[in-house]
Amino acid sequence: MDDISLKALAKINLGLDVVRRREDGYHEVRMIMQTIHLYDRLDITKTKEKDIKIQTNLSFLPVNENNLVYKAGRLLMDEFGITDGVSVKLDKRIPVAAGMAGGSTDAAAMLFGMNRIFGLGLSKKQLMERGVKIGADVPYCIMRGTALAEGIGEELSALPPMVKCPVLIAKPQISVSTKFVYQNLKLDDDTIHPDIDRLIGDIKAKNLHSIAEHMGNVLETVTIPNYPVIDEIKKHMTAQGAVGAMMSGSGPTVFGLFDDEDTARAAYKAMRSSGLAKQVYLTSVYNNRR
Ligand code: ATP
Repeated sequence: MDDISLKALAKINLGLDVVRRREDGYHEVRMIMQTIHLYDRLDITKTKEKDIKIQTNLSFLPVNENNLVYKAGRLLMDEFGITDGVSVKLDKRIPVAAGMAGGSTDAAAMLFGMNRIFGLGLSKKQLMERGVKIGADVPYCIMRGTALAEGIGEELSALPPMVKCPVLIAKPQISVSTKFVYQNLKLDDDTIHPDIDRLIGDIKAKNLHSIAEHMGNVLETVTIPNYPVIDEIKKHMTAQGAVGAMMSGSGPTVFGLFDDEDTARAAYKAMRSSGLAKQVYLTSVYNNRR
């Protein structure tokens, strides 16, 4: 096999809690991760030059060693002494720096694809062990589906699949730095934490309305006061019939869950004409694991 075309799927967080700040500056989290059918496409081709060449549709993205696709490729090429090279066409649709694990899922797809085209014989678990060296979210992006992520996000427990439903994605024009969000997060007795265990119960019970009711993201306590447009988008989605709307990751992307297609489609159109968001997508929950 000399080439492979892969979908690198995005994630949303149905729940995100920060349990504590560790002494080394990392944060211990409890997150409910959910794959959605919004994806970047990676076309990976084997070449004769010992090099990783990346081409992408977004001119502002790095195509050198700072691209996570490059890091993933380099890691396997070094470990396995691969003397051929690869060229990668990266077609990005997942909003960048937006709380949807866009870079991590591209890295996961690159590990998966390189394993195939070079016949490395690595199991899913072995790919996940390599993925964590690139980023805490990479192992989850290899696994996919519904999962609880703990530790710094790399300790994964599979959960039963989330109810399949339409998902509206809206990213406002603003950029939000993950570092800023974590640095400004106040963790004290007044912090309202989402009830992650209750949310897990709702997922197991396949009750979309309860899931929507108990979704929560502690990072909204930082982003919403600083970027009111996030709350405006949430309110807009709810007014258009979303059963629940929340910010994903450290934002600024907001997602809305719907219990029927027609309402979701109308909400998609309304969001596009509202001018609140720069990128708007209508997609759905995706539950197949790799
Ligand atoms: P997370 O949800 O894990 O916090 P994110 O959505 O905040 O991820 P990414 O889209 O992964 O963030 O991008 C963060 C930064 O990583 C960007 O500023 C970008 O320059 C860099 N980057 C490197 N490789 C990629 C890639 N393949 N796709 C997107 N961004 C990349």
